[in-house]
Amino acid sequence: MAAFATQLIQWQQKNGRHHLPWQGTRDPYAIWLSEIMLQQTQVNTVIPYYDRFMQSFPNIQSLAQAPLDAVLALWSGLGYYSRARNLHQAACMIMQDYQGNFPQTRSLIQQLPGIGRSTAAAIAVFAYGKCEAILDGNVKRVFTRYFGIPGYPGESKIQTLLWRKTEEHLPGSNQKHHIETYTQALMDLGAIICTRRKPICTTCPLQKNCVAFNDNRIEQLPTPKIRKPLPQKEAIFLILLQHQKILLEKRPSTGIWGGLWSLPELEVDENASTYCRQYLGIHVNLPTSLPSLDHQFTHFKLRIHPQFLQVVSQSMIKAPQTTWVKPHDALKYAIPTPVRKLLEKHFLTDNVTLNHPIIDKNNA
Ligand code: SF4
Repeated sequence: MAAFATQLIQWQQKNGRHHLPWQGTRDPYAIWLSEIMLQQTQVNTVIPYYDRFMQSFPNIQSLAQAPLDAVLALWSGLGYYSRARNLHQAACMIMQDYQGNFPQTRSLIQQLPGIGRSTAAAIAVFAYGKCEAILDGNVKRVFTRYFGIPGYPGESKIQTLLWRKTEEHLPGSNQKHHIETYTQALMDLGAIICTRRKPICTTCPLQKNCVAFNDNRIEQLPTPKIRKPLPQKEAIFLILLQHQKILLEKRPSTGIWGGLWSLPELEVDENASTYCRQYLGIHVNLPTSLPSLDHQFTHFKLRIHPQFLQVVSQSMIKAPQTTWVKPHDALKYAIPTPVRKLLEKHFLTDNVTLNHPIIDKNNA
């Protein structure tokens, strides 16, 4: 077991990643933010978001004091927005319950919203040098292959077995001071060597004793989840234009895209003109259908049918939680990715103005 840790530590020192923006610090806030952003998201995607976020909210206090809208706006495009909501909520809790000091043990860190056992362990390791085991997606892949463990790693009995393995293979007492390097090694190995497709076993420090490599079972491990086809939903999104501005509507704080600004959304069998009159207090011309757009969530697929409508007149009724903004300014709001794509496609590409050719042509 000691050899396992030694091989990884030596490999990381020579071949691992050492210059990521969140490395070389003991600041638990910076480490926490990186760990949350890196859940479900690749390093290269995370880096610009991480830099912008740290510039705007450099510490727990500034994050806790910020309006949730501003936090969501910086997160816009990164997806999985509950991560941003939980970050904000956890920052407020740290200010209130810990006087702004980040908790220092894995068990306390784990009690904050949005932080699971593995993320709490990673923060405890990198910020405080605690000897804790991690088990993120990359580590699950390395361990299932190295030990030749069949079964879907999300299944609880496989997960329990993997946690036991990761705890058993932590650096021994004479190597505990290398816990950060060891933990980083596991992350790096999963990210750059033992990748999901085509792992580079020839340069892997664990190759000699890797069961999957020796038994030629790399392709089969980790065992994939048996997936059912995702259900497909459909919705109409309204692009309402008035005085060169479009209407954004704030979504409820819970549910899909909770708390984000989006375009007014209708069921596919609803009538746009009636909806505009009854719920938004505006009269519109006949809608123009724009090409549909597909978006995939974890649990379903959404086909969006955008409709463009010019506002003819507006009554005094003001729908709550709505705002008129220029399309360019809308991109600074916390908006979901497909809405961003729609606005960029129909308003903000080169040679395209608010009188978009597609719209003009269809209206003609
Ligand atoms: S030898 Fe290959 S399959 Fe085994 S841990 Fe290394 S990279 Fe992964």
